[in-house]
Amino acid sequence: MTAGNSDNIRDLIVIGGGSAGMAAAIRGAALGLKVTVFDAAGEDFDKPCGEGLMPPAVTALELLGVKGFESRPFRGITYVNEAGQKIHATFAGDGVGVGVRRRVLRMALWSRARDLGVEIIHRRAAEVRETTDMMVVEGLKARYLCLATGIRDTLLRDLDLNDRRPKKSRPHRTGLRRHARVNPWSDMVEVYWSEHGELYVTPVAPELVNIAILSWQPFTFDEAMNWFPAVSAKLKDVTWDDTASGVSPLAHRGRSLNRGRILLAGDAAGFLDAMTGEGNALALQSGIAVADVIAENSIDTYSARWRKITWRYWVMTEIGLWFTRPGMPRRFSLWVLFRLPILLNGSLRFLSNEVH
Ligand SMILES: Cc1cc2nc3c(=O)[nH]c(=O)nc-3n(C[C@H](O)[C@H](O)[C@H](O)COP(=O)(O)OP(=O)(O)OC[C@H]3O[C@@H](n4cnc5c(N)ncnc54)[C@H](O)[C@@H]3O)c2cc1C
Repeated sequence: MTAGNSDNIRDLIVIGGGSAGMAAAIRGAALGLKVTVFDAAGEDFDKPCGEGLMPPAVTALELLGVKGFESRPFRGITYVNEAGQKIHATFAGDGVGVGVRRRVLRMALWSRARDLGVEIIHRRAAEVRETTDMMVVEGLKARYLCLATGIRDTLLRDLDLNDRRPKKSRPHRTGLRRHARVNPWSDMVEVYWSEHGELYVTPVAPELVNIAILSWQPFTFDEAMNWFPAVSAKLKDVTWDDTASGVSPLAHRGRSLNRGRILLAGDAAGFLDAMTGEGNALALQSGIAVADVIAENSIDTYSARWRKITWRYWVMTEIGLWFTRPGMPRRFSLWVLFRLPILLNGSLRFLSNEVH
């Protein structure tokens, strides 16, 4: 779609058509706002992801009216150590997660946005100006701008919205994922731990599982599969649906959550690691919060709302990274966790509690 009349003042321009940006757009349109989204990657972009949506993400999608997409429910997480010992952790309350291929989720979000009249412009937005009473993006005017550009784009840096604090000296984490054509063998997401990293198995469709691997060391997908012999054996003769694709480094911090008429949502506002599988939940919830504060004319409350949504994630991810980081006696950490299953179970219940 091409840009409309530039004298036409929108309520909200969103840059980024991922989970956060589309949540802001859908919620905004449902609340009566006039919304335009710029996205560089297109509707069927298959972003590298573990593809497990935690219960708060499922609730957020229900609120947005995004439904009818192909997915597989899961009841919780099964943690497996190198000796094959398993711990099953289930969600708080009646919580259910869903596995969904990233491209499928994205197409469902875009379709819902279009149904609600959101204008989607398929190109990268690079030119952003702020006047006293409005934002101007690629010549289009709006009262507010939501930046939901994820962790990779340079726009935040260009707008001086990236964190300028010196980076901590810890090494980077890398994540890779690949899809295998196989019948899911569990109704749980499985997390396999090895000395080198973690492997996540997420059922996403009747004949498809997502295999995602996270590690502190650089790796190729094939070599990392050797770290997890139990999974390699299951997938020995499998047909792979795509090539491995990933992200490094995983961590990113925004400098501020809002400045003037600009609000940051999703990974653009801050992302630490994918280990808790919450990125989409936080992206959807923060996108919804952006639209809510604009509709309520209370954008000064956004930072507090964002902190309420994300604080558990920051606390639990920092703890999780500490347990897994190199230099730590990782084997000892795993030994403790598998002798005290209440730690893993309690963490998952803590994280899957809904924010009200
Ligand atoms: C390896 C890995 C595994 C993960 N596993 C999980 C998991 O199992 N469950 C989970 O919930 N989360 C997981 N996550 C996290 C999750 O993928 C992210 O938190 C989520 O995608 C954030 O959504 P977002 O909308 O903020 O950003 P994105 O999904 O990255 O979307 C950003 C969008 O902005 C567009 N864009 C950027 N700049 C511009 C520009 N200047 N102009 C126009 N468009 C622009 C891009 O094209 C893109 O479409 C994982 C992440 C990784 C890396």
